[in-house]
Amino acid sequence: MEKIKVGISACLLGQPVRFNGSHKNSVFCSQVLSEWFEFVPVCPEVEIGMGIPREPIRLVNENNQIRVKNVTDHSRDYTDQLKQLADHRAPELNDLCGYIFMQKSPSCGVFRVKVYNPNGMPETEPGMGAFAQQLKSHYPLLPMEEAGRINDIRLRENFIIRVFANHDWKTHVLNEPAPHKLVAFHTRYKFLLQAHSEAHYRKLGQLVADAGVKPIDEILGQYFELFSECLSHVAKVNNHVNVLLHMLGFLKSKIPGEVKMSIIKLIDRYKEQKIHLIVPITMLKHYVDLYQIEYLMNQKYLSPYPYELGLRNNL
Ligand code: SF4
Repeated sequence: MEKIKVGISACLLGQPVRFNGSHKNSVFCSQVLSEWFEFVPVCPEVEIGMGIPREPIRLVNENNQIRVKNVTDHSRDYTDQLKQLADHRAPELNDLCGYIFMQKSPSCGVFRVKVYNPNGMPETEPGMGAFAQQLKSHYPLLPMEEAGRINDIRLRENFIIRVFANHDWKTHVLNEPAPHKLVAFHTRYKFLLQAHSEAHYRKLGQLVADAGVKPIDEILGQYFELFSECLSHVAKVNNHVNVLLHMLGFLKSKIPGEVKMSIIKLIDRYKEQKIHLIVPITMLKHYVDLYQIEYLMNQKYLSPYPYELGLRNNL
């Protein structure tokens, strides 16, 4: 299988590029995800010529403008260089399907990066790393996560789902846009979308109904924005339960009553959080494959990413 291109802070792949010459190797990225992802490493601070080792930098709020500055010498300001680097690298990164950044970094951090006032006191309002923020302005729908946050199993699963969906979208819809491709995409994501947000799923359905009437580029832009927003909601237990019961409805005329009851029991146990999501899904998938229920076999909900990743074993 073709590997999916994903950007990554170079230090997370074990490259010794941090200010003190160390790295922050993420075993999950460098040894697990690298089976499926072709990582594109970037160290913005090295790329703008700051060298290794280098003096540390931080975000400083200067007259309500967040700047990236040398910790002790505020006359050394790297904000513009980091932003220009993102502008320069953006066109060649347009085939990325996701990005994993190093947390807390004034260049790479995405969420809750510490901001200081000019006197060196921490402020309450967090900021975003200058490189990450500028890249996000080029690709607002690119799934972006931090290595620290993907230690959380729900955030990890959510990010991986969005990366694989992004790749599917680019490969099967964007490469040759056509209304029938959008319809097929929307159809195979039906249950996955419902698990993340029923309201978004309904709005997306209305957009798909307009495919073939309105200009396709306009529809695709609106669709993918809403689609990305939908998947960014972490799927809740009750939503999974509704989806599993709905899928079971497609099987009920085929399977014996006692099998149906045992699947319902598994779904109930999952609802009570006594077993993991993978258990009812595996059971359901077994019967879907056994009876060749094509509509369900094509549903991304049952296999949003390679099962070897085992992410639902802990949900
Ligand atoms: S966090 Fe970003 S800038 Fe800092 S060492 Fe890692 S890749 Fe380089």
